[in-house]
Amino acid sequence: MAILIRNLFIFFIFTVIGVGSYGFWTLEHRLRTVNYSEFRYCLQHHDLVSITFIGNKVIATHRAGDSYETSVPNPEKLISELQDRNIQIKFKKDRSQQIFDTFALIYVVLLLLTVIISLSNKRKLEDKEEKNKFASDKLILPDSNAQKITFADVAGIPEALEELQEIVNFLKNPDQYADIGAVSPKGVLLQGPPGTGKTLLSRAIAGEAEVPFYSFSGSDFVEMFVGVGASRVRDIFKEAKEHAPCIIFIDEIDAVGGSRAGGATASGQDERSQTLNALLVEMDGFSSTDTIVVLAATNRPDILDPALRRPGRFDRQVNILPPDIKGRRKILAIHTAKVNLSPDVDLDKIAHMVPGFTGAELANLVNEAALLAARNNKQHVEIEDFEFARDRILMGVERKGMIMSAQDRKILAYHEAGHAIVAKTLPDADPIHKITIIPRGRALGQTQQLSVNDKTSYNYDYLKARITILMGGRAAEEVAFSQKTTGAQGDIVQATEIATNMICKWGMSDAIGPQAMVIDDSGFLGGAAQRLEMSDKSSELVDSEIKKLLLQCSKEATNIVKEQFYLLKQLAAILLDVETIDDEEFDIIMACHFTDKIEAGIHEMDQCKKCPAKDSCIHSKIKIIS
Ligand code: ADP
Ligand code: MG
Ligand code: ZN
Repeated sequence: MAILIRNLFIFFIFTVIGVGSYGFWTLEHRLRTVNYSEFRYCLQHHDLVSITFIGNKVIATHRAGDSYETSVPNPEKLISELQDRNIQIKFKKDRSQQIFDTFALIYVVLLLLTVIISLSNKRKLEDKEEKNKFASDKLILPDSNAQKITFADVAGIPEALEELQEIVNFLKNPDQYADIGAVSPKGVLLQGPPGTGKTLLSRAIAGEAEVPFYSFSGSDFVEMFVGVGASRVRDIFKEAKEHAPCIIFIDEIDAVGGSRAGGATASGQDERSQTLNALLVEMDGFSSTDTIVVLAATNRPDILDPALRRPGRFDRQVNILPPDIKGRRKILAIHTAKVNLSPDVDLDKIAHMVPGFTGAELANLVNEAALLAARNNKQHVEIEDFEFARDRILMGVERKGMIMSAQDRKILAYHEAGHAIVAKTLPDADPIHKITIIPRGRALGQTQQLSVNDKTSYNYDYLKARITILMGGRAAEEVAFSQKTTGAQGDIVQATEIATNMICKWGMSDAIGPQAMVIDDSGFLGGAAQRLEMSDKSSELVDSEIKKLLLQCSKEATNIVKEQFYLLKQLAAILLDVETIDDEEFDIIMACHFTDKIEAGIHEMDQCKKCPAKDSCIHSKIKIIS
């Protein structure tokens, strides 16, 4: 409205100026008026060169050069008279018509001008409004959302919760901290692998803090136009100061805070570094009395610009790691609360089944299991649905329709049985969880082990056992069929990776000693290690050490498989028969098939009745014998 009035005012001024200047112009050029008889006198005396008719007036131009104006009572008569006298005659439009035309032209031009000005002003205003909306759109006020997320919805990351609880306390009672002289942290960086609950945690803080909460994503600042990101940052902090105490949350901060030294494209880089600079300036700019806390989350702490971590910016870093077994249990409890669980489902057992799963993966597991149960028209979600969902998440969908020749199936069964028997024999190995020869995803067969506890560090014997188990598949194939197949590809790659890490990263080779031979830049996401620059001699030594370790493990696997060949044959036969053996069944089979027990004549009859091996069960043969 204000703009319209202003424009009308401008319009009015233009009109006045236009009319005024025209008036002056006509005043300057006003002609002398004579009466008709005077005019006739001049006409009679041949004093006139030309005569211009304008309506019923004429302008006569004298031979001396000056002109005058007069009214003519009968123009037609005068015209015929003039033609006789050989005087030039001109016709012009009425002057009032001329004035009108001029005004119309000015008017149109002015109108156009007004419209253009108004439009451009509107654009500017809209831009401004949008900016204001940008910050306030992302504002979550306390008590504004009915179904708030609180700390109770987050589990398995107690350290992070504790740390953030302190921030919440500070925001709730800033005075208490100020009295002691404690200064709040300005910035808290949540860093951890994807799906561990960083975004969830920040939403929980918004629910808990009882202060205004601004929630942005790093990509909000990466715009098409250079400078928009930076101006948005300034805007946010300006608004936040008005709402202090409050929290500003920037999710996926690596989108703007990626290292400026890194090699993105020139223009994108420019925009990002402008935005990052604005952020750094703003964070330096507010004082500790402003009681604003900036929270940020990232999956890629390794690529963050180091300037962000300097004191006074994100001076606190909270690491969020995948939950341990207790945490998994709690997270499962949260997510299964809304699901109709069968009463015999044991969450502890499920938590056991999924080592290394993040919160997001656990949420997905629960959902997949519920979907499966619903598809099978069940009333409750059962443990087998969880098993199935887990395999599906880990390995992809079963490829039941895949056609395999009888010989290939047999080799596969021996291969998986080899893994299982080596794992069972080695004292340092994890227990077997499941053996299957049903192809899934890209893998043909599977022998799964479960770690008893979540291991955070591994010792030499355990790692060596892992490699030996991996070698067990190929060893069984070779012992049984004297053939090498491509089925061992994945095992060999994995074994080589472990062996390389043992020698190059973890200093587990006596010949090399505790010296790092690779660059450890894997961050959270893992990735192949890159060897450091080293002399040819060292390089050779590294290669020979890796080879030595792999060969040693492979030989041991072969020995075990040869020693247990009888058992291998049995297990392979059972696998061909039943396709999948779970942990309990495996224990039963082992209990009643272990050669030394058979030789000693010890048969655990009760267990053997449950043996899934059916006809191929050695026990049935023993029964016949005995
Ligand atoms: P991130 O931001 O770390 O990648 P999210 O916070 O987006 O992970 O997690 C995705 C989802 O996974 C959440 O919405 C929640 O359902 C579930 N989740 C993740 N971590 C947890 C946790 N610690 N407790 C409960 N649920 C979790
Ligand atoms: Mg996230
Ligand atoms: Zn294998």
